Amino acid sequence: MTAGTSRPVDELLTATEVLVGAGVMSPTGHINASARTGDDRMLLTSLGLVQELTPETFATVTFDGEVVDGQLDASTGEIVGMHAAVYRSRAATQSVLHTHSPHLTAFALANQPLACRYEALLRRGQRSAVPVVPWAPRGSAAFTEGVGRAVERHAASWAVLLGNHGVLVFGSSPMAAAKFLVTLEEAAAAELRALALGGARDLPPGTLADG
Ligand SMILES: [Zn+2]
Repeated sequence: MTAGTSRPVDELLTATEVLVGAGVMSPTGHINASARTGDDRMLLTSLGLVQELTPETFATVTFDGEVVDGQLDASTGEIVGMHAAVYRSRAATQSVLHTHSPHLTAFALANQPLACRYEALLRRGQRSAVPVVPWAPRGSAAFTEGVGRAVERHAASWAVLLGNHGVLVFGSSPMAAAKFLVTLEEAAAAELRALALGGARDLPPGTLADG
C-alpha cells in the first residue's frame, strides 16, 4: 500500500477533489472510485455522484462482490466486477477510477481509441493508445471479461475507454490515478482541437511500447 499514515478513504476523497478541481467531471458528477485494500478486496464508493461522497459513503467489498463492511447501493453493486477485473488483470494497480469525463467520453461514444501523442501522457507512464472495450450491458459477464481482456492485452496503457459509456483509469495510488485521468482528459481535448488544424501528429517511431 501507499507509504504514510493516510487511510484509503481519505486518499480516495482527496483524489476525487482533484478531479472536481481540475474540471474533468461530467455535469452529472458520475463517478465510482476504489482502492485495493487486500489480496481480494477493495474500498469502493457506495454512491455514484461525486457531490454525495463523504467518508461514510464507502464500502469494503471482495472482488466477487461480497460486502465486508458498509453498504453498497444496488446500482453500484453492478460495477464491482469492472473494478475487480482491473485489479485481477494488473497486479500493480492500487486504485481504479471511473468517470464520464466529457472529452474522453466523446472518444468512448465514437468507439475510437485515444492515441498517445501528448508529451504529458508519457510523463505519466502511458506508452500506448488507450483501447476501447466494446459496449456490453452494465454488470454483465461480457462487460467484465471485456475489461479484463483489454487491461491484459494493453499492458502499456493505464486506462481503457468503455465503448458508448466513459473511461476507466488505474494507477499505483488514488492520487496517481486522478492525476493521470486529468492528463488523459487534457489529451482528449487537445486531440479534438487539433482536428481543426489537420489532426495531431504521431510521436516519432520507437517512442511508444507498440512502435
Ligand atoms: Zn459510468
